[in-house]
Amino acid sequence: MSKVLFAPMGFSRYDIDQTLPSRFERLLQKSELGDMVQGKTVAIKIHVGDRMTFSTIPPVFLRILVNFVQAHGGDCFICDHAIAERQPENRGYTQSTLGCPVLDDCGHLNKYYYTKQVELRTLQHVDIAGYIHDADVLIDFSHVKGHGACGYGGACKNIAMGCVSTRTRQEEHGLEGGLEWDADKCVRCNACIEGCNHHANSFNSQGEYEVFYHDCTLCQHCLKVCPTGAIRAIGHNYTEFQQGLALCTKTVLDTFAPGHVFYINLLAQITILCDCWGFTTPSLVPDIGIMASSDIVAIEQASLDAIKYENLIPVGLPKGHVLGDTGHLFERIHGKDPFVQIAMLEKYGLGSHEYALEEVE
Ligand code: SF4
Ligand code: SF4
Repeated sequence: MSKVLFAPMGFSRYDIDQTLPSRFERLLQKSELGDMVQGKTVAIKIHVGDRMTFSTIPPVFLRILVNFVQAHGGDCFICDHAIAERQPENRGYTQSTLGCPVLDDCGHLNKYYYTKQVELRTLQHVDIAGYIHDADVLIDFSHVKGHGACGYGGACKNIAMGCVSTRTRQEEHGLEGGLEWDADKCVRCNACIEGCNHHANSFNSQGEYEVFYHDCTLCQHCLKVCPTGAIRAIGHNYTEFQQGLALCTKTVLDTFAPGHVFYINLLAQITILCDCWGFTTPSLVPDIGIMASSDIVAIEQASLDAIKYENLIPVGLPKGHVLGDTGHLFERIHGKDPFVQIAMLEKYGLGSHEYALEEVE
């Protein structure tokens, strides 16, 4: 049974020691991370968000983590994919705030990566981000939230979509299928064009919707914002997408020596969609706390178990959103069973879904 450390958000008295950052410090001290980073280069992988997002990991937690790593003899940097386009400084992610460099993990030109061949339909190349590949230790620090394509975004998604090249992200999303546009349903409101962060879609001179699949990540933002359902995903296969995420994660993790990866999941401001959308909606459930483990399967299972349907805060859903009848809260929202991802990780031998929570006072 794998150990998952848990620093809860709940408090019993007005005391700085009871706040989550204080508990996070104690959680780190209780963990194996100090020994893990001694004399090592350490990549701290986060999601820097986009545009108006304010639900990404608050800088105070990153500063605590950086101070901890440096105090234990680690040489660390913070990284994410293609951050130059996403203004991380707007969310406080700068070297002066965090105490270490903030880097594009595939380099500033997005061309620094190491390719491993895999075979899963459209997913043929896992291009491992160069700076992740070169580090001795990986700290996978994730903001837990819902995800339109796979139901749930946590530790696995943070690696599979963020420690790889743009090509690999596209090949992963390709497992879901493509987009189809229905001219009869389209009211030419342009919401799909404005909602695309990648400038991958347009209306051509004949007024037809076109997708430039080279730039399209198949993130489905355009589909979700369309008020009339004129765009739909075809060949949709979320199970294969989740398998692709797990396979990418395994391929990235295989580059690290055993015992050189540590996972931290922040369960606060748990929103319906991923931080890449560029905005933050109200929380779906009350804030839960922080979990940490050396086992990715265990921490993902524990995180999902802590997000309960009965704690749903209705304002976290768009008005009129109809929930499914069964399954995890994320399955009722997105129609995809989030535990598929965890089962795939376990199938690839990355850990155990059986865990013991150890609470940090
Ligand atoms: S799927 Fe995403 S990247 Fe592709 S056109 Fe739609 S919004 Fe743009
Ligand atoms: S969002 Fe939908 S209705 Fe609006 S322009 Fe795009 S396809 Fe047409």
